[in-house]
Amino acid sequence: MEGSGVIQRYRDFLPITDATPIISLNEGSTPLIEAPNIVQALSGDFRLFVKYEGLNPTASFKDRGMTLAVSKAAEQGVRTIVCASTGNTSASAAAYAARAGMTCVVLIPKGKIAYGKMAQALIHGARTLEVRGNFDDVLELVKELGKRDDIEVVNSINQFRIQGQKTAAFEVCDALGDAPDMHFLPVGNAGNITSYWMGYNEYREAGESSKLPRMMGWQAEGAAPIVRGEVVQAPETVATAIRIGNPASWKQAVEAAEASFGAIDTVSDDEILDAQRMLARSEGIFVEPASAAGIAGIVKSHAGGDIVEGSTVVVTVTGHGLKDPEIAIDNAKAQSMVVDANFEVVLAATGL
Ligand SMILES: *Cc1c(COP(=O)(O)O)cnc(C)c1O
Repeated sequence: MEGSGVIQRYRDFLPITDATPIISLNEGSTPLIEAPNIVQALSGDFRLFVKYEGLNPTASFKDRGMTLAVSKAAEQGVRTIVCASTGNTSASAAAYAARAGMTCVVLIPKGKIAYGKMAQALIHGARTLEVRGNFDDVLELVKELGKRDDIEVVNSINQFRIQGQKTAAFEVCDALGDAPDMHFLPVGNAGNITSYWMGYNEYREAGESSKLPRMMGWQAEGAAPIVRGEVVQAPETVATAIRIGNPASWKQAVEAAEASFGAIDTVSDDEILDAQRMLARSEGIFVEPASAAGIAGIVKSHAGGDIVEGSTVVVTVTGHGLKDPEIAIDNAKAQSMVVDANFEVVLAATGL
């Protein structure tokens, strides 16, 4: 049973053969939601659409690449997948490995993973190791493990991940009828910006769209190796999913920004948290902090006059807000009230 996941829907654009068993959780087909309230709050004159990737099966865009990476691993007869992760890759790998009946090993920098993501890795049965080190240390260990023939690494150094993730660009074009003028997204390991750029190019070459968007990537100030032009040894940001000091797809990300006349720039943790709250309050869309980096980028670009009037802008919000409930409760800057079960007391407390 192939389901209606991204491999089935975009198989002509993917490295699939009749021999590839399709391991899918019906990922993709996420909504592209117009966000007029944010545009209005910015007094902007453009159309903004939010690609809500938190609505994938494991609640982040990682599923688009994982379905292909795990399917190809199965085709090659591999029974064990391994990944280094700030959280969402491990959640996705754990789920797809469970689906495929494979063993999954995840290596996570100790203490740096959001609560919901840890829950996912554990409940899906992944062997979960917290390593005393940062993400880049962990990735090196995983690459070492991957030298064995019976183990497949499913980090975004796995080209099938990049290939699968490009399907999000296809979906955006299919929904809008063409590519947007600008595409905003957060940048961590820079696999996703690489994937979108690949997808937009392939779709245009296939005659499915007529133009290419400016690619606008956003790193957190404390984890901005691409913007600074050097490896960050101890990356630090509230947005754990983009807490990366040495991105795997660094070169490709720079190429995407340059070839598209776009940019890769930084936003601060405060700007990220403000954007998370704004998106939740004004549009009803709840995302994890890393995902809000693209929204913060829109605020910054608009303030800088970089968004042309009348243009169509898409922002990918990469993961669901429930991944990281602790930060959300903190960032809500609001508290619940404890009251007695008494109508007068409740009425007074509601402020109505
Ligand atoms: C993985 C991830 C990112 C970063 O994507 P890259 O491909 O590593 O640049 C951003 N946000 C979320 C929620 C993620 O899971």
